[in-house]
Order: sequence, then C-alpha cells, then structure tokens
Amino acid sequence: MAIWNSSSLAEAPAATSHLPVISVREIRKIYDLGETQVHALRGVTVNIKAGDFVAIMGASGSGKSTFMNILGCLDRPTSGQYLLEAKDVSSLHKKELAAIRNQKIGFVFQGFNLLGRTTALENTELPLLYSRVTKKEQERRAREALNLVGLAQRADHFPSQLSGGQQQRVAIARALVNKPLILLADEPTGNLDSRTSVEIMEIFQKLNREGLTIVLVTHEPDIARFSKRAIVFRDGHIKRDELVDSPQVASEVLKTMPTIED
Ligand code: ADP
Ligand code: MG
Repeated sequence: MAIWNSSSLAEAPAATSHLPVISVREIRKIYDLGETQVHALRGVTVNIKAGDFVAIMGASGSGKSTFMNILGCLDRPTSGQYLLEAKDVSSLHKKELAAIRNQKIGFVFQGFNLLGRTTALENTELPLLYSRVTKKEQERRAREALNLVGLAQRADHFPSQLSGGQQQRVAIARALVNKPLILLADEPTGNLDSRTSVEIMEIFQKLNREGLTIVLVTHEPDIARFSKRAIVFRDGHIKRDELVDSPQVASEVLKTMPTIED
C-alpha cells in the first residue's frame, strides 16, 4: 500500500553515507529594499540528517520562511554555504536551482496553493507536467500519491468540493509525486482546526517512518511535539536546537480527539 518504499531513498547518497542531507553553514540573507536592508538571516549553521523530522519555530519575522525558501531552492542566501546531499547549491543560478527543486524538494504551504479549476488528480500531476514521463504514468503516479494521503476516492473532485484538510492532503500528494528527498512544509496546519492538523501530522509521521526527511515550520508547540527535533529561530539566528523529548504519536492522539463531520 505504501508507495513510499525505500527504493528511491536507498539510491540517494545521503541515505547511504554519513553526510547530512542538508548542511547549512553561516548563511545570511539580506533583503535589499533600496533605502533599507533587512537582515532576515544573520549567520545560521545547521545539519539535518536523512530521515530526520525537524520543526522550525520562532516568532513572526524571525526568519523561518526565509530559511525554508533557501532550503527549498526557491531563493539563495546572500552569503554562506548550503550543501544539499553534499552538493553546494548556494551559488547555482535560477535554472539550475529550479531543476534541483523539481527533483529533490517537495513543498507544502499554509494556503494549499491548489489550482481551483483543476481536479485533485490534475493538481497532483502538476509537477510531472513538463517531465518526460508519459501521460499515463503521470496519472498512475498521481493516483499513488493521492492514495498515500488517503484521497484516492476524491481524485476527480475540485478544490472547492474538498475540506481544508483534504485540500492540504492534495497539496501533500502533489509535493510527493516526484518522490522528493526532502519535504518542506511552511505552517501547513496554519489554516486548519486542531483535529485536522493532527491528521496532517499523522500523514507526515507515516512518511517520515518510511524514510522521508521532513522540515516543518509551525508556531504551535503542540504541533512541534510530533516532530523529532525542534529548532527555534530568533531575529535571524538559531536560538535553540534540541531533540523533542518523547514525540507524540499522531495516530494515538487522534483517538482521544472528537471527530468532526465532513
Ligand atoms: P518568518 O517566516 O519567521 O515570519 P520571514 O523569513 O518571512 O520570517 O521574514 C524575516 C524578515 O525578513 C522579516 O523582517 C520580513 O519582513 C523580512 N522579509 C521576508 N521576505 C522579504 C522580502 N521578500 N523582501 C523584504 N523583506 C522580507
Ligand atoms: Mg513565515
């Protein structure tokens, strides 16, 4: 049932070596607004190993999204080094970054970012649109990814016909369809009620158990407790970085929460 088998990950160098999958050294990010410069990251150094599940926390404006955008190859640091599977990606150009992003990174956002006039299946297929994969194979992979998030039955539904939690699950399926090395999620539960949030964490924990490396931004300590490691940002620095003491198991927590009718 789980398509997230270890095959794709076993081929990845990071999974077979002792190198961290993500290694960030002294990265700084300055947004140049002409008259002012915003120092969003002021020297961040961190390693993340394959199979980790990291929660990024910190006040609004502390640099979390800037950090995630750099990890996800959506943006480049002003200075410092970013090694992704030991390859220095900090100085790559936009096109090269886009290629790496497409192959290695799955991104999930707070606002789901689905195309409204497009079905769940078509939304999930999107990252494959310009790949060499045949149309039939695109559909097969997208159905597998939807199955993985428990939405196989809703493949033909449009976003407006889905609940917030279901829309976020489509967004997760879309992020998984390329079998990425890392899943990055920026406040993925920010728009969801508490039970639905835990359901999303249940999916993340399942994917993580199957070997996927996950980095998730949240401002909710209750959500961070489902991760293995919490990193707290403050004013563009890492203020704390610690293992989560006996992480909560989402499937267990769900048993104690009331169900909401769809
Ligand atoms: P967080 O996600 O923790 O709320 P951000 O990384 O979004 O923090 O922002 C860190 C700082 O950088 C903030 O002061 C924010 O206003 C600024 N910032 C973020 N993105 C941009 C941008 N594109 N242009 C200018 N300033 C930005
Ligand atoms: Mg943010």
